[in-house]
Amino acid sequence: MLAAIVASLESATNSTPPETQTTSWGALDRLRAPSGANVFAFAVLFAISVAFLFVAYCLSRALFGGFGGGFGTITACVASTAAASIFLWWLVPFADFAEIFWLHLPADRRAREGRCPYCGYPHESRETCTECGEPTAPLPAWALSARPVKRLAWILVPALVVGSAAGEAWCQLDESRFVDESASARARRDAYTRNRAFPTTFAKLSVDRDGRFDSAPWTELGRERDWRPADESRLERGLGWKARAERE
Ligand SMILES: [Zn+2]
Repeated sequence: MLAAIVASLESATNSTPPETQTTSWGALDRLRAPSGANVFAFAVLFAISVAFLFVAYCLSRALFGGFGGGFGTITACVASTAAASIFLWWLVPFADFAEIFWLHLPADRRAREGRCPYCGYPHESRETCTECGEPTAPLPAWALSARPVKRLAWILVPALVVGSAAGEAWCQLDESRFVDESASARARRDAYTRNRAFPTTFAKLSVDRDGRFDSAPWTELGRERDWRPADESRLERGLGWKARAERE
């Protein structure tokens, strides 16, 4: 199953026309990195992306506020999580990890040692390798091409689905636990509040005396627009920054 996914990832991203193959990667394209190395690289990239997008989804959920995941909330959170995936694009070169580590670096080392970059046979300054018939000129260095970009895109799409689903499940679980915890307070018609679960402990879940559930980030720093300082001379400090004015 996993091998099939990796094989399709490799083939979907390796199908470049022959004329671009000779110009971009040279004869190195005929060599293949071990499949296990690609499995490793793609799995690590997928895991990093899912973890990042899970946190991004939970942050969106807490920042947008509100209790429960309706269609509008989930759509907005998935959209902002997709936007946050721009911070994962620096991982693009790692999608070529196998080729860099198993093809480019060994070929480069052989060329520096005066050996054929393909088979490692000493070429003794001949232009063509007597062992494998390939040119002995050093191969071009790894450069960014469309292939690793396509590979990362193929990894990020399922990672967005999995990360968002896990984030939504995590938030729903936290909210349903809050409903259970607040049951006795609601029975007494008391308000009840606590922080959201990791990684969004900066937001507070709350239920008021009328049993209305809500969630908002940084409630203690909220701005009350109708608030005025008792001392009118303090007005120039800015309207509504209650927490700050009381501290001074
Ligand atoms: Zn050779």
